[in-house]
Amino acid sequence: MTATKPLMRLVSHVILDLDGTLLNTDGTVGEVLRTYLVKYGKQWDGKRAQRIVGKTPLETAAAIVEDYGLPCTTEELISEITPLFSDRWSNIKALPGAARLIKHLSGHGVPIALASNSPRENIELKISYHNGWKESFSIIIGGDEVKMGKPSPEIFLEAAKRLNVEPSNCLVIEDSLPGVTAGKAAGMRVVAVPSLPKQAPLYSSADEVINSLLDLEPEKWGLPPFQDWIESTLPIEPWYIGGPVIKGFGRGSKVLGIPTANLSADGFSAILSEHASGVYFGWAGLSTRGIYKMVMSIGWNPYFDNTEKTIEPWLLHDFNEDFYGEELRLAIVGYIRPEANFPSLESLIAKIHDDRNVAEKALDLPMYSVYKDAPYLKASLSQNNHHS
Ligand code: ADP
Ligand code: MG
Repeated sequence: MTATKPLMRLVSHVILDLDGTLLNTDGTVGEVLRTYLVKYGKQWDGKRAQRIVGKTPLETAAAIVEDYGLPCTTEELISEITPLFSDRWSNIKALPGAARLIKHLSGHGVPIALASNSPRENIELKISYHNGWKESFSIIIGGDEVKMGKPSPEIFLEAAKRLNVEPSNCLVIEDSLPGVTAGKAAGMRVVAVPSLPKQAPLYSSADEVINSLLDLEPEKWGLPPFQDWIESTLPIEPWYIGGPVIKGFGRGSKVLGIPTANLSADGFSAILSEHASGVYFGWAGLSTRGIYKMVMSIGWNPYFDNTEKTIEPWLLHDFNEDFYGEELRLAIVGYIRPEANFPSLESLIAKIHDDRNVAEKALDLPMYSVYKDAPYLKASLSQNNHHS
C-alpha cells in the first residue's frame, strides 16, 4: 500500500500544491478532451492522460494531435479547445479528501501555504469557488511571484521564508513529478499523491507515495491525526449511482470467486473520475428484490489491467441466479482502503474478504445504516412494484 522511509523528521508546517493535489484539474481536462475527441471519431484513453499531466497547454495540444493522429495543427487544436476550458474554471471539483485535509490542519492551528506554478490570479479565482479555503491558507504563492517555477525549489523556499519556518520543518504535498523534485530540492519532506494510477515507481524520491488524500496519515509527520476513522472505515459524503446490470467478463466471479454486478462504465466516467480508486461500501437496491449491504472496488483493477476506471459492486447476499438487465442502485457511504497491488491472487482474494467483513460490520453503525432508507434506493423498488 504505502511505503514509508524510516527515521522521518517531524514537521510543523504544510505546503500544498493546488492543481491535481487539491483540485481535480486533470479530471476537467480529461472530460473536455473526451468530449472533443468524439468529433474526430476518436476515443479518449484515460491511461495515456499521464502524457499531459504537468505540461503546458502547448505541449499538451502537441501530444494530443500526435497521439490521436488528429487532422489539425497544434495551434488549431488550442484555439478550438481553449473556449471549452474557460467555461470550466468555476467548476473544478475538490479532490477526495482535500476539503477534509484543509479543515483538519487549519482546525488544529497547523499553518498551511498554498504554492502553485499557476499565476496568483488564477489560483485566487480557482479557490474562490471553495468555501473556507482562502482563509485557511497562511500564505498563497503563485508561479508568477518567483523567478523559476517547479521543479526549481524556489517557490517552496519562498513559501517557507514567508511562513517564517525552516524548510526542513515543512511537509510538501504534491501530485506532479516536478513538484516532488522541487520539494526535495528545497530540503523538505514530500508526500506524493500521483493524480494518475500506477505512477508510484516514478515518484521514488518522495518520502511517501499515497493513492489519495484520504490515505494521508498526518501523525507520521508529527501532525495531529485525523479522528474521523471509525472501525477501519472513513465516512464520506454519500453519493449515488445506478443503472441496469450488464454482463461482465466473468472475471470477478470466475477468477476470484467473487460475483460483482457490473454497471456500464460509459455514462459514469465523469462521476468515477471524481472519486479516488479504492474499496468503498454502502447499500445496493435491486429493483425486484430488495436492499442489500454492498462492498465494491472503484478503479483500474491492477490485476486485470483495465483501461477505464470501473466499479465492481459485490452484493453481500447469496443470490441463486444472475440478475442481468435489472436496475441496480447504489448508495456509497464509506471508504475502506486504496486500490493496491497484490503479490498473488490468493492474497487479493483474502483482502477482498477482509473488506467484506469490515463493510458488513460498519454498515450496522447508525451513521451508515440510515442510508439504507435513502429515497434513491427506495425509489427503484416502489417503481418496480408499481409495474408488477
Ligand atoms: P463478473 O464477476 O466479472 O462481473 P459475471 O457478469 O459473469 O462476471 O458475474 C457477475 C454477475 O453475477 C452479476 O452481474 C450478477 O447478475 C450476478 N450476481 C450473483 N450474485 C451476486 C452478488 N452477490 N453480487 C453481485 N452480483 C451477483
Ligand atoms: Mg463484475
